[in-house]
Amino acid sequence: MTSKPPVLELHGLTRHFASGKGTVRAVDDVSLTVGRGEVVGLVGESGSGKSTVGRCAVRLDAPTAGTVRINGTDVTRLSRRALRPLRKDFHLVFQDPSSSLDPRMTVGGIIAEPIRLHRLAARGEGVRARVGELLAQVGLRPEYADRHPHELSGGQRQRISLARALAVDPDLLIADEPTSALDVSVQASVLNLLADLQRERGFGCLFITHDLAAVEFLADRIAVMYLGQVVEQAPTADLFAAPKHPYTQALLSAAPVPDPAAQRSRERIVLSGELPSPLAPPPGCRFHTRCPVAVARCRTGIPELRTLPGTARQVACHLVADDGTAPDAAAAPATAPAPTP
Ligand code: SF4
Repeated sequence: MTSKPPVLELHGLTRHFASGKGTVRAVDDVSLTVGRGEVVGLVGESGSGKSTVGRCAVRLDAPTAGTVRINGTDVTRLSRRALRPLRKDFHLVFQDPSSSLDPRMTVGGIIAEPIRLHRLAARGEGVRARVGELLAQVGLRPEYADRHPHELSGGQRQRISLARALAVDPDLLIADEPTSALDVSVQASVLNLLADLQRERGFGCLFITHDLAAVEFLADRIAVMYLGQVVEQAPTADLFAAPKHPYTQALLSAAPVPDPAAQRSRERIVLSGELPSPLAPPPGCRFHTRCPVAVARCRTGIPELRTLPGTARQVACHLVADDGTAPDAAAAPATAPAPTP
């Protein structure tokens, strides 16, 4: 028996843009897999390229190089027409639901659109009944079908985006900062809903976020991006228990922990300088201009993203040994690393 392919496979994904000032290297050689029913978190600062990865994965943006496979099919260079039948296999939920929901349509019309397009229910009553079911699944009463997006709160609008995404029963959902535009008070309920739906429906999910608490809650595995590249990938519990890459260590040190005593005793790693421009990424390790433990070779030698033997972890750092011994960025002297000559 052959096992089914992963729902999403990115191989060597690269996206460069031409700008007036030169070439913006937004994403460089990213390889990532989302298995069936698996939630993979993609984290990094704004400007790390994580949203561009999501847009390329659903063909809203065209990669400069590399391949995107969905359910085993290479969709990288498929025409719009050839892509259409596959559209029901994947769906993107955006950060700001207001921009993705047509304000002229009713909620019922918005949810019904993909059902009609892919002929997933009998016209008329069949579609109406399916819309009602989907509204119930996202915790909204059937009468919401007659409302327009502007009559709803941000949290309700994001629930509608989820209902629309689920209408096609996708194998893959890409959620790009789905809660960051919402009030803090409703973020948790939308995240809980996403987690429940994912468990019940079993779709694979690429969850793009800068919210570490959210990603710890939802993701089975996490990939950390810095300046267009993945620097570390590991199962969620392993990554939070022992981040190996100095950038991951810094990122996690800034995340709040529930225990106030643990919070007080924790060393926060403050990175010097700003994220460098993707127009001119630093040579060698891209993180070397901010890395608290950088050594001379980091300025020229590009660290390869390699799997640590006997583990499910990948890391790109010269100083992480094969047995997992890693530098401790928190213990480094609080001086700025030497600038690149
Ligand atoms: Fe820091 Fe060097 Fe490791 Fe890059 S390769 S993360 S600069 S120690």
